[in-house]
Amino acid sequence: MNRNVLIAGGGIAGMAAGFAAARAGWQATVFERAAEFSEVGAGVQLGPNVTRILQAWGLDDALKHVAAFPSGLHARSMATGEVLATLPLKDAVAIYGAPYVTLHRADLHGLLLQAASREGVQTHSDAVVQRVHQTPEAVTLDVSEQGLLQHHTAPVMVAADGVWSPLRQQLLGDGLPHFTGHIAYRALVAQAELPVHLRSQDVSVWMGEHAHVVSYPVRGGEYLNVVCLAEGQLLDDDANHLQALQTWNAQKSEAQTLAELHHALRGASASLKDLIATCSDWRLWPLCGRPAMQGAHQHVQGRVALVGDAAHPMLPYLAQGAGMAIEDAAVLGVQLAGAVNTDVPQRLQAFAQARWQRNARVQTRAVRNGEIFHATGPKRVGRDMGLRWMGARLMDVPWLYGYRLS
Ligand SMILES: Cc1cc2nc3c(=O)[nH]c(=O)nc-3n(C[C@H](O)[C@H](O)[C@H](O)COP(=O)(O)OP(=O)(O)OC[C@H]3O[C@@H](n4cnc5c(N)ncnc54)[C@H](O)[C@@H]3O)c2cc1C
Repeated sequence: MNRNVLIAGGGIAGMAAGFAAARAGWQATVFERAAEFSEVGAGVQLGPNVTRILQAWGLDDALKHVAAFPSGLHARSMATGEVLATLPLKDAVAIYGAPYVTLHRADLHGLLLQAASREGVQTHSDAVVQRVHQTPEAVTLDVSEQGLLQHHTAPVMVAADGVWSPLRQQLLGDGLPHFTGHIAYRALVAQAELPVHLRSQDVSVWMGEHAHVVSYPVRGGEYLNVVCLAEGQLLDDDANHLQALQTWNAQKSEAQTLAELHHALRGASASLKDLIATCSDWRLWPLCGRPAMQGAHQHVQGRVALVGDAAHPMLPYLAQGAGMAIEDAAVLGVQLAGAVNTDVPQRLQAFAQARWQRNARVQTRAVRNGEIFHATGPKRVGRDMGLRWMGARLMDVPWLYGYRLS
């Protein structure tokens, strides 16, 4: 039997898994249904738990070329713009040994794709994974490649096919993800196009009633990524096309999108409204998810490992979805290093045991953050008082950022 790993999906999870498997001495092949390997969309934040892994993978120089290194994360009131508390992100290196960065998703994906190619990972685009079959000895993937059905067999397979993962539906039979009732509207604006008082090299989170706005620099600080996350209804027509809307390029009519945004931000301060008004070309993304992971079986079935959003889709309110995909890949790499074909199922079980509770904890905490960010009435008053009083101590998450691979 060969030392091959088959990977379904060439997003951040798939490319990270391919890279980690190749570093562990396996020949990885990634199948991506899109015609090109790329990521569109806007930004991601990566905490020191993730940049520590990228450093260990030798990618810190590549990261420095594309990332921004914000010095603080400001929790603000949406209504007044007041900074309630600041987490000094510039201290991440001293405290956690690695930086907190913000970058464009395409830059993160490009960095992983290049690193994977250098390690000899093979990539097949226009390759739609149809089904997986497994015996105790091997896994076979049916893949439609440029219209032709191909069969690939290997000792290990990784399902990295995203929140709507067809492979998860086949393997776990737990149906489609649900609409969380939250919608993300995002825009990207060149800092040079913003009035000076709206430019920023820091992360800001403006917390309002049933909505919040996040902004941070990307592309080395040249652009500002602005995302409004609001509780909202989908129109019937949208609800019927939920899966089609799961792309960073989804767009309603400009008038409809702006009307929804203005409604969500009706209580916002003048400067936040100015920032929103300066941005154009808003794109939306209805956020879909699943309950937090309930056991190792949701990470591994025999010789198949599920990673990234396929295993644990989450609200982006802890900014860790891509981070958890990269952690998954790193732990998978540790288990695959030195694995032989006969002990692959045990190695994958060790991977699942090392990962599922942490992923469940991050999923749960992301939901809680949403409740805190969107609080109303006495809960909002208590939140603001707590932030003013306890400051960074309330915002730091040592169990998250201090993670070491096991
Ligand atoms: C508004 C918002 C903000 C976010 N902010 C952050 C943040 O700050 N920090 C962070 O860490 N995370 C963040 N995330 C989460 C992060 O974007 C995701 O967790 C991450 O991109 C998931 O990567 P993935 O590779 O698992 O899935 P995807 O990116 O969905 O990739 C799956 C890939 O599989 C392919 N595919 C699907 N089906 C098949 C098939 N049958 N055959 C072949 N290929 C297939 C798809 O085309 C796709 O390329 C955010 C998410 C949102 C929505």
